[in-house]
Amino acid sequence: MKITDHIKNAQGETLFSFEIVPPVKGKNIQHLYDNIDPLMEFKPPFIDVTTSREEFVYREKDGLLEKQVTRMRPGTVGICASLQHKYGVDTVPHVLCGGFTKEETEYLLVDCQYLGIENLMALRGDARKDQQYFEATKGGHSYATGLVRQIKNLNSGKYLHDDCEMDHLPDFCIGVAGYPEKHLEAPSLKSDLKRLKEKVDAGADYVVTQMFFDNQKYFEFVEAAKNIGIHIPIIPGIKPIAVKRHLQVLPQVFRIDLPQDLIDAVDGCSTNKDVRQVGIEWAIQQSRELKEAGVPVLHYYSMGKSDNIKAIAKELF
Ligand code: FAD
Repeated sequence: MKITDHIKNAQGETLFSFEIVPPVKGKNIQHLYDNIDPLMEFKPPFIDVTTSREEFVYREKDGLLEKQVTRMRPGTVGICASLQHKYGVDTVPHVLCGGFTKEETEYLLVDCQYLGIENLMALRGDARKDQQYFEATKGGHSYATGLVRQIKNLNSGKYLHDDCEMDHLPDFCIGVAGYPEKHLEAPSLKSDLKRLKEKVDAGADYVVTQMFFDNQKYFEFVEAAKNIGIHIPIIPGIKPIAVKRHLQVLPQVFRIDLPQDLIDAVDGCSTNKDVRQVGIEWAIQQSRELKEAGVPVLHYYSMGKSDNIKAIAKELF
């Protein structure tokens, strides 16, 4: 079922969902299931599965370091199909511009249709680690808007080049990313919101936000989005702080602010277990307020271990 239909059917009740990251190539998928199993009692209507683009890595060969291009966490669509089958839950594969030609994307979309995947998260992706800025892949999209258009075109029966007729049109529901504290490359929040509006006008059905730790930022973002004519669901993304290092890493990587009270509480912890507890309590407090405000879904970023997400969900769902 489409995410937008799940939201409609919930009739104002806030839904629970989460995002998982595929295992590193060569690792067993069982670890992923072990982390998902404890969250299924909270009945997520959908689970997102991230995609990683190709990276340059150095590997030793004959005593020399050799530069190689590789995708470290492949398998997004396969994992989605497997989760739909195993848990009877809808899944949302993340689809990237970076690292993919439009043709490769088309084949991926065809796979999704065959596998009964009805939802897609359309993203540009970040710059490769060896590049300072995002560079579009040759034959790929430069921005998520182009990807949204490609999916919409397929929904209306248009392949990229072929004239062959489809006898069964896909009807993908499309999610896009939104940034309550603006995307790191955007010159201002206002211009970033205009770009979001372009994604919506191109056919996006819902938005999932970047993580934020101050709900006010989300409320203001939703208001500003409404003011420029964005009326699709805006799902808040929540990440519980799990290690002290997050205090430096999260602002650096995502260009987000952390509230001083949260920084002080984490700084005051002497063990990682305490930090994890602070992260859980902060996320519960955030989630309660968002739920009271009637957000359609609370979407959690579970990076590997799900014990903290379970502790949060137990308080709210
Ligand atoms: P876009 O919407 O294309 O925007 C990128 C930047 O370009 C913004 O600054 C925007 O303002 C600007 N812009 C847009 N259109 C134009 C234009 N026409 N001209 C000039 N500027 C323009 N990354 C992954 O690699 N894998 C994942 O699975 C993944 N999942 C994510 C899930 C969520 C919910 C979020 C919020 C992010 C996720 N990301 C993921 C990260 C995402 O790929 C990066 O944040 C990326 O840098 C931007 O992606 P986007 O889709 O928002 O890009």
